[in-house]
Amino acid sequence: VDVRNPRTGAIDYSFDPPSRDELAGVCARLRSAQPAWEASGAPARAAALLAWRDSMLRHRDELVGALVRDTGRFFESALEVDAIRGTLERWARNGPDALAEEPARAAAIPIVSVRQAMQPYALAGVISPWNFPLLLSLIDAIPALVSGCAVVVKPSEIAPRFIEPLARTIAEVPELARVLAFVAGAGETGRDIVDLVDLVCFTGSVPTGRAVGEQAARRFIPAFLELGGKDAAIVTASADIERATSAILWGSTANAGQSCLSIERVYVEQPVHDAFVERLAQKARALRLAVPEPQSGEIGPIIAEKQVAIIERHLSDAARRGAKALTGGEMETHDGGAYCPATVLTGADHSMLVMTEETFGPVIPVMRARDADHAVELANDSTYGLSGAVFAGTTDEAIAIARRVRAGGISINDAALTALVYDGEKNSFNLSGLGGSRMGPASLRRFARRQAFLIAESSAPDPWWYPSLQEH
Ligand code: NAD
Repeated sequence: VDVRNPRTGAIDYSFDPPSRDELAGVCARLRSAQPAWEASGAPARAAALLAWRDSMLRHRDELVGALVRDTGRFFESALEVDAIRGTLERWARNGPDALAEEPARAAAIPIVSVRQAMQPYALAGVISPWNFPLLLSLIDAIPALVSGCAVVVKPSEIAPRFIEPLARTIAEVPELARVLAFVAGAGETGRDIVDLVDLVCFTGSVPTGRAVGEQAARRFIPAFLELGGKDAAIVTASADIERATSAILWGSTANAGQSCLSIERVYVEQPVHDAFVERLAQKARALRLAVPEPQSGEIGPIIAEKQVAIIERHLSDAARRGAKALTGGEMETHDGGAYCPATVLTGADHSMLVMTEETFGPVIPVMRARDADHAVELANDSTYGLSGAVFAGTTDEAIAIARRVRAGGISINDAALTALVYDGEKNSFNLSGLGGSRMGPASLRRFARRQAFLIAESSAPDPWWYPSLQEH
């Protein structure tokens, strides 16, 4: 598989994906090590995660360097590694308590008590996309490991360079290396993984997620699908415009808009619309493309070649239908890399692709809303429902609006907080995904089957046994 460099456009990396037999061998090895990992107990598994954190810190520069080559951007690559450090520490701290078995409790029938236990799936598969290659490969793998599963991860073929340095960090923690493997591969390897595991966590596009979900359903294994988004921000007349413009600019353009949880459309109440747009455009003009060096500016290249054509199509469709670009508006090429400057569009409406389909670029279309009801109606007019944002004069006012928005994680007077805050449990709406929450304590529940032990508390015969047989 040849891999393109997003900063130069050149093919400068390649790898051989495993054959199906080789992959089956990897999965068999992981499966045979899983019972000991499970039996070692949650505190021992937490200790292994902290040892892995230390190993990652020792290799931090190599990891960040590989991610910069994979994605062409600098700040977000460092952020990914630091976020994973936080995730490892959080699960090492919270995992053992969250997994501790509760004492038996009385059942509705007093002569029986109930004890709950969890039995982890033996082998979890993780399939991840290219936009946050490390973060999205580990966000589900870590709680799966904490739960006692073995895990096989297949990152995207578009950004696989980080696998080599990451594999070195895993090798330094032998107990982890027995139950965690990364394989480089493309779609075919992804399909093979779904056939070989007991549970799959998939992050990626809706069409691939649908295929993974169908394949998993045929095998009767759970599939947790984290798919695309078209996140809306709502700004009411009472909102702090200074704050809203800064937060939305960041939420739309960080990682050059290549985040599932990017703000991709904004609805602003009529009285503040013009002031909002003017201030947003002013701030957007100050953002620079990250050329010639990754550290030179804020907006890195578009990582996946396929995405460049999508962004171009959305921009030209919006222009043709009457939207006006106050900043940006056209793709640029620098040294072979494709860049989209921060783009603020006004006069957007729902006839435009840029308001209805996932753009995955630093493009902020803004639309006038008559009032909050109209803004909610527009926000909900979407096939997606991943996350969103509401800006209003008070937290209560914002939450009252957010309750009516059909999306899982809604930032209140802020934007895209689900990129950084993993504590809140949330589900996807519509086509943005399916399955339990990847965030918060519920995240762990995905990786184990619940068992109930129903315990007889007395040696006397149960009253519902055949009374006629009691005398015999
Ligand atoms: P994609 O669906 O093209 O690929 C995702 C992964 O699936 C890759 O590893 C790919 O090799 C693999 N794959 C491809 N075909 C497969 C198949 N038939 N069976 C199994 N695996 C297969 O997505 P992408 O272009 O890499 O990522 C961008 C998409 O991911 C966007 O839609 C974005 O919104 C979404 N995303 C969602 C979240 C979230 O948390 N909801 C986070 C980040 C990205």
